[in-house]
Amino acid sequence: GQRLFDPLREFADQFTAIQAGLTSLERVSDILSEPIEIRDPHEPQTLPATARSGQTIAPGEIRFDHVTFGYKSDEMVLRDLDFTIRPGEKVALVGPTGAGKSSIIRLLCRLYDVTKGSIQMDGVDIREMPQAELRRRMSVILQDGFLFAGDVTSNITLGESYAKEDVRRAAEQTNVASFIERLPQGYDTELRQRGTNLSGGEKQLLAFARAAIRNPGILVLDEATANLDVGTESIIQEALESLLVGRTAIIIAHRLSTIRRVDRILVLKQGQLVESGNHQELLEQNGLYASLYRLQMLEA
Ligand code: ADP
Repeated sequence: GQRLFDPLREFADQFTAIQAGLTSLERVSDILSEPIEIRDPHEPQTLPATARSGQTIAPGEIRFDHVTFGYKSDEMVLRDLDFTIRPGEKVALVGPTGAGKSSIIRLLCRLYDVTKGSIQMDGVDIREMPQAELRRRMSVILQDGFLFAGDVTSNITLGESYAKEDVRRAAEQTNVASFIERLPQGYDTELRQRGTNLSGGEKQLLAFARAAIRNPGILVLDEATANLDVGTESIIQEALESLLVGRTAIIIAHRLSTIRRVDRILVLKQGQLVESGNHQELLEQNGLYASLYRLQMLEA
């Protein structure tokens, strides 16, 4: 099977854990041995308030302004990336392993800071923004839903206080409500960490519900690579579509059904943006995207 995205998985677990307020940044970083030296600014800038649950979402604009980045000072893995994702736009990141897709997401979440250039959210440099604000505006969904030992409700709320109706609404919106209702204790059913008692599809839907309840303007998604059965695949696609409505989204997309539907595909190669356009446009260009696409068609 595919194990290409394990580093991203670690990061997403970390982001989720931080979002849950489970532990301090330092402790999570110790556990995962990822260096984190990000500090809040002394005078953080605040952005207009995020919409609360049930209210209209304000999709965010994301701008990468000539971003260059290296984990080590002598080895840049992203080079002069310059693009803007408009509010509400859905963008897929595509490229061979090691091209820099996960690194882009890590920068966006400020697990690392850029080496050169800047990343702006609605015109504000994310380094000037309180991290709590960043986490409110953005939800990260990993490809193989991370679960905590705890009941279904707390796996959706991450321990924050939400009304029962909000939990139910989030579950319904993401097609997981009927599954939850079939569990022995419904929303009170205890789940095991890593979710060994759930299928991949069910974990994915729970992760969607966890994002939905926060009502973020921006969604970051590492799509599952696992082969889901046809029934689950369509349920997940439908849930994903409902989750994407009115939000800005960056997706590391593996499924052609998703890639075909995004507004724009950013194709990366060795840390550089080499192609940009929708599925049809990129096929016509007959470049890297077209060859990756043909390769995937052969495998399928
Ligand atoms: P992708 O997600 O497209 O597969 P990554 O962003 O994971 O690509 O990787 C981009 C480059 O950065 C690769 O050369 C990879 O080896 C390197 N890299 C990824 N994570 C780290 C890290 N934590 N430390 C050093 N180099 C890393």
